[in-house]
Amino acid sequence: MKISNRIIMKISTLHLIFLAVLISVLILPGAIFAQQETAASIAVNPAQQKWVLVIHGGAGGPVKGTMSAAEEKAYLSKLDEALKVGGAILSAGGTSMDAVESAVRFMEDCPLFNAGKGAVLNENGKAELDAAIMDGRTGMAGSVAGVTTIKNPVTAARRVMEKTNHVMLVGGGAEKFAKTQGLEMVDPSYFITPARLDAWKKSREVQPKTPVKTQPSMEKHGTVGAVALDQQGNLAAATSTGGLMGKMAGRVGDSPIIGSGTYANNKTCAVSATGHGEFFMRNVVAYDLSALMEYRGMPLEEAGKMEIMEKLKNLKADGGLIAVDREGNITMPFNTNAMFRGFMRSGGEQQTAIY
Ligand code: ASP
Repeated sequence: MKISNRIIMKISTLHLIFLAVLISVLILPGAIFAQQETAASIAVNPAQQKWVLVIHGGAGGPVKGTMSAAEEKAYLSKLDEALKVGGAILSAGGTSMDAVESAVRFMEDCPLFNAGKGAVLNENGKAELDAAIMDGRTGMAGSVAGVTTIKNPVTAARRVMEKTNHVMLVGGGAEKFAKTQGLEMVDPSYFITPARLDAWKKSREVQPKTPVKTQPSMEKHGTVGAVALDQQGNLAAATSTGGLMGKMAGRVGDSPIIGSGTYANNKTCAVSATGHGEFFMRNVVAYDLSALMEYRGMPLEEAGKMEIMEKLKNLKADGGLIAVDREGNITMPFNTNAMFRGFMRSGGEQQTAIY
């Protein structure tokens, strides 16, 4: 090799080393800094101490005055208990994800609500359950649909989010996965309560053959949901349902569809919806609410009102939603006679209501 060639090689080697040093000194710390910036923008605000939990037990329900005082009391006290379950987690500094999952699990186990035990029955007299959960901090989500043997579908939804590369699992596949996760499995009959069976029989007498065209009436609702803001400033949402009574076998509603019945985003809000699911799906209600805040700068309450009292109402679609934003503001609009609902905040404020 000629001397001149060797000199050129040496120079280029030196160049390479110099370049590498330059990259590590100037560019890499920039990249790390950029990463830290992204993490900081979604993570802990040290001054943030407040927390909020909002829950619903479904929109619809009877006209005021038609429910007995004892029935009303029973619903309100179960809502209170669900708030206490989730509120205990938040006040101890726990995550919004844990709080919404626990509050929804509690309501799934309660036979009064249309989720888990006590779910409404489909055209074949079977409970087919849907659930979803979303983490506003990471943007991760999980859901299950059309399951008949998972005791707590919301927990299965969370496992889909945390333990798989997928967002949604349905039917037998979801059940097989839940089993491998060691979740509690039950016989499909576990979900059927005498009250739901009665209502199902009555509904069959009225419209035995036309489930798909059936306009869901008020007593067909009762989905449960929870949204929360934790002390770290993170939002989460969860929803669980048996869907609409008399629905076709295999029908999936809005609750497990991310962006329709369930959505959470730390930049905006966390939403859980209830009502005539097909309309919530076509209008992508939960995401649309968040988008109104993100792109139009609309306040939470105004955005919620627009979804439920304008968009859906104009379509004659019944329903409601609960939502909390990153500042801890809450809204609970509904265009039906009633929506079982409640909230709890740091500082001890707690309320439940039906009408
Ligand atoms: N949104 C649910 C569904 O359509 C029902 C409900 O909220 O009552 O499946």
